[in-house]
Amino acid sequence: MGIFSGKKGLVLGVANDYSIAWAIAQKLIEQGAEVGFTHLPGDKMERRVRKLTDPIGAKLLVPCDVQKDEDVAAAFDRAGEAFGSLDFVLHSIAFAPINDIKCPYAECSREGFKTAMDISVYSLVIVARNAARYMPNGGSILTLTYFGGERVVQGYNMMGVCKAALDASVKYLAYDLGPKKIRVNAVSAGPIKTLAASAVGDADALGGLYEAVSPLQRNIEREEVGSSGMFMLSDLASGITGEVLHVDCGYNVMGSPGRAVEAIKAGKL
Ligand code: NAP
Repeated sequence: MGIFSGKKGLVLGVANDYSIAWAIAQKLIEQGAEVGFTHLPGDKMERRVRKLTDPIGAKLLVPCDVQKDEDVAAAFDRAGEAFGSLDFVLHSIAFAPINDIKCPYAECSREGFKTAMDISVYSLVIVARNAARYMPNGGSILTLTYFGGERVVQGYNMMGVCKAALDASVKYLAYDLGPKKIRVNAVSAGPIKTLAASAVGDADALGGLYEAVSPLQRNIEREEVGSSGMFMLSDLASGITGEVLHVDCGYNVMGSPGRAVEAIKAGKL
């Protein structure tokens, strides 16, 4: 018996086995959860996700483009049909047009900004609204954010502004859905090599910075984000809502380069 025995939920944002959503889903399943998944519409996208979900016997794999209200509503209706009600929902989605994320924030386009905000921020609002329809007894919603929404991180550019808006959305959604006993939280993960991360810069260099600066003197492991995400979705976190939990080896608490000063002096950084 795991802590998710008898619990059912929907996971949005698995692209492949590098995805953070997959790391969290694996932990949920290990703990006994029944998990449904979404994929971006299209045969190629479906095949990519199905390669992971078929071997684990997932009961549900549905198309969902979060830019379309009707897709989100239909995905949750399918989840409702398959599971009755939902206990948890994982939202692990972000996107920005490559030219708008590679350029300085000051240079990003209006269209790129709108698209990035729509997919990376508004999607949580529409997902939470639909999730609530199938959480009559309360539930837990989790999203993924990054420190680049709190402080300037070289290369994160427009996505940092999206994450700041996402972090604020977590708080307002937690307030709105609190009376329905629905918790809304975020995990702020340190850098992990994924498809989405490849768009925002050099993951190795960023990982190296975390090793040099963070109190734990290392970068996080994918598995650690999986466990922490699973914890936030579980009843063990029943008193936590509106929170951004940093899973980053403590990098966010540093106000100076810390022990990296020695490496800088030695010309290693
Ligand atoms: P990922 O595997 O590429 O996941 C991103 C997901 O978003 C993909 O499944 C992608 O689908 C999906 N997506 C994009 N546009 C969509 C749309 N219109 N409708 C539905 N789904 C859409 O990368 P990841 O790193 O795991 O990213 C997951 C979340 O973690 C993101 O919010 C990211 O900002 C956050 N995060 C990542 C890191 C990191 O270092 N990797 C650190 C902190 C936070 P397709 O691939 O099919 O387009």
